Amino acid sequence: MGKIPHLLIVEDDELVQSLMGAYLQRDGFTISLAATGKEMLAAIDTEHIDLALLDLGLPDEDGLSLARQVRARSDLPIIVITARKGKSDRLAALEVGADDYLTKPFDPDELVLRVRNILGRAGTVEAPSIRSEIYRFEGWSLDMDARAVIAPDGEHVAFTRAELNLLAALVKAPNRVLTRAHLLDAVSHDAASPTDRLIDVLVSRIRKKIEPEPKAPQFITTVVGCGYKFSRPVT
Ligand code: CA
Repeated sequence: MGKIPHLLIVEDDELVQSLMGAYLQRDGFTISLAATGKEMLAAIDTEHIDLALLDLGLPDEDGLSLARQVRARSDLPIIVITARKGKSDRLAALEVGADDYLTKPFDPDELVLRVRNILGRAGTVEAPSIRSEIYRFEGWSLDMDARAVIAPDGEHVAFTRAELNLLAALVKAPNRVLTRAHLLDAVSHDAASPTDRLIDVLVSRIRKKIEPEPKAPQFITTVVGCGYKFSRPVT
């Protein structure tokens, strides 16, 4: 069927690097290795990479800044891997547009699973089901089967898994106030330890993508003290 996914492992710890490489190769992936941010950017420019596994603690450059640079110029899926246990680092990873993160030490099977999850979402679209689940609002379409968000001009806009799941929860219940706790349920499997702040971060990212005026949102409105509401008709 499809081609073999090509993963880039960005990790300066040789032991961790070879362990990850061995596991992922055994699972059938093609692997490229980088030990610094410079090597990472060079690999992305010269090879066709399908997903990057990015260690945050690199010798030459901060992983978060690298993730931001990559995200600024491509939709390459990124899984951030960090030894830092702080909640703020995980939030920061999602904020710069990483698709997922893992905390060291991690279970190699979980690593493989998360890679497969993200590639499945970013990869080829399955044969269309008979009744596709599509939500339309203000010229936009959210196609749940294709996991695609399509702008009024027909352009596909890149959404991370967490962003898409959150938008889906909102458009499925238009004009209803959804609490942050309810919205956390919709994205909780996308984050190791979800918090209310995660919802605010994701909402702000979604607004920047879909709202005509993100600073004066009309689609996703804030209900002070309660949560958020999707305030446009959905068909
Ligand atoms: Ca490191």
